[in-house]
Amino acid sequence: MKPIKRAVHFDFHTMPGIDNFGENFDAEVFAQQLADAKVEYVNMFGQCNLGFCYYDTKVGIRYPTMKGDMLREVVAACHKRGIGVSGYLNVGLNHEQAIRHPEWLQMNKDGQIYNLKGGGGNFFRTMCYNTGYKDFVIAIIKEMLETGVDGIFCDCMLLRPCYCMNCTKDMLAKGIDITSHEAVTAFSNEVRMDMCRAIRAAIPNDKRLFLNGLPSYSVTELNSHMEIECLPAAWSYDYFTAHSSLARTLYDNVVYMNGRFQTSWGDFGGYKGKAAIENDFFDALTQGVSTSLGDHLHPAENAISDVYRDLGEMYEKIEAYEKWTDNAKYIPEMAVLVDTMYLGTPYTSAARMLSELKYTFDFVRAERDFSGYKLLILPDTVTVTEELAGKLSDFLAKGGKIISTGFSGLTPDKSGFALPAWDFAFRGLDESNTTYFKLRYTAEGVADMPYSTYAAGIRMGEKEGNDCLAASVSSYFKKTGWDGLHYYFYTPPKEENGDATVLINKEGNVAQVSFPLFTAYFQSFATVFKSILDTLLSKMLDKRLLLARELPSTARTTLTGTEDYTLLHVKVSYPEIRGKFGIVEEHTVLPAGRRVGVLGEYKAAKLLPDGEALPLSVEDGYSFVTLPEITGYAMIYLEK
Ligand SMILES: [Zn+2]
Repeated sequence: MKPIKRAVHFDFHTMPGIDNFGENFDAEVFAQQLADAKVEYVNMFGQCNLGFCYYDTKVGIRYPTMKGDMLREVVAACHKRGIGVSGYLNVGLNHEQAIRHPEWLQMNKDGQIYNLKGGGGNFFRTMCYNTGYKDFVIAIIKEMLETGVDGIFCDCMLLRPCYCMNCTKDMLAKGIDITSHEAVTAFSNEVRMDMCRAIRAAIPNDKRLFLNGLPSYSVTELNSHMEIECLPAAWSYDYFTAHSSLARTLYDNVVYMNGRFQTSWGDFGGYKGKAAIENDFFDALTQGVSTSLGDHLHPAENAISDVYRDLGEMYEKIEAYEKWTDNAKYIPEMAVLVDTMYLGTPYTSAARMLSELKYTFDFVRAERDFSGYKLLILPDTVTVTEELAGKLSDFLAKGGKIISTGFSGLTPDKSGFALPAWDFAFRGLDESNTTYFKLRYTAEGVADMPYSTYAAGIRMGEKEGNDCLAASVSSYFKKTGWDGLHYYFYTPPKEENGDATVLINKEGNVAQVSFPLFTAYFQSFATVFKSILDTLLSKMLDKRLLLARELPSTARTTLTGTEDYTLLHVKVSYPEIRGKFGIVEEHTVLPAGRRVGVLGEYKAAKLLPDGEALPLSVEDGYSFVTLPEITGYAMIYLEK
């Protein structure tokens, strides 16, 4: 199956009452707009959140004022131009069917099917797959496939615990404790997975399927590819970096689906502009994944000409790189271990800290093979089960190294370190809520002073042979709140208390930070936390892949490549926080003359796609490229 690239995803959710529906829409003109914008693949609406179908349907509800057979016409017009099409349906939401079949709705534990808090939005009524709705969805998918689509995109398959009568009766019959939120959620997840398997079974193997809303690792056997939906200005740019770092270890074809909007989906009148969209596409290139523009089509119009003119200019540039990027894979020098269903703060923070420090990394699931990496990071919350302990022991025995922070490295009951390699004195959980530390090393940019940890973890002590990089400092008072006379708000550091904050074991292969370093970074963005991580990595990685100290922390550098060449990606644009949004109004310009070192001895460096030769010198096993002036982003070819 040809990988998806240069794609567009169309939302198309139409309230009843659009009296001139489709008036100015012409499938041939629309498909030509996509072709002119160099689009290769499109997710096109078959059935929307409202539950209306946009093709001739016997199973579903046709949009009342639709003339013609929209999806079928679009598929034919796109195929004529070599553009692939997936049919979109919302599986989690279907308001028209919900109105007709209230017995198909999920129910919360208070017995409600409506959740209109906050004005309702579009997520106030969700469907239960343990009802007749399941057969309805399968019938719609089979019917939609008859329009000639190349695949199916299933949206909004989020996990919500369901207490509807069907689910409740089934749970009781299975002896499930319906008072347990976890047990009910687990049952609802099984219902959801059954639905996913039924959907896959209804779709021929040569057709695409993407199930949106599930953790990427849980549907690797069902999805044909992975689309990372992210509106970064509002959802955070770190969301994309974290999710792409994991997705590319699970799928061969990963796509970054951003949005043209200023705020969010449904923002018909929002266009964040070319530089902002291009910034997201540059992020995709640095992560070694493909691109898709998220858009919303007007119910009566073709696509917006100016937006597709801009997209065409962007996709022309991306197409020019494809000669080199099509077969290139991301080159990681370490991995961050993932043991949670969703990537929370420790993970988005790890992605950001490592990116700012110019290290390259994958995120890898704990149950998968991580033996090929040289170094693993266990961020903040990765407690060690017996099974994981065995894998980590093997990893260390083969020369691997581990950096563990906060509660990571402990047994699941947090009663001590799980493995003897964590050869530090465990002194229990840190019950104080005011802890400081003092570095035992000096470095540029950090001060000789007690720093706050901001987040509490464990207490540990130094053992003989340990290398202590930071020591714990107690405060005069705990932040204990009101004592009748005073509220203890001012709690300065007092003295070192004999505990250690950062330790490396005698063998030099396991490091432990006593507090949740990654969570603390996201709570404070204090650069001292990056200093700790950088110092540990400098001691534990033999030779890092990139030397990029001449670039600002806002720049991103990564490597992708094949056996024959390496691509150095240098991205210098970055968002500015304006109000609550991260805005990229224009590209950042990096002056010419900065140098980046890449581990290895390369023969030549060329700026792509034109091939302009760049100065290259080899020193101490690194090839130093002198960068030209860069506006936004540059891709540099390194010849082996
Ligand atoms: Zn249910």
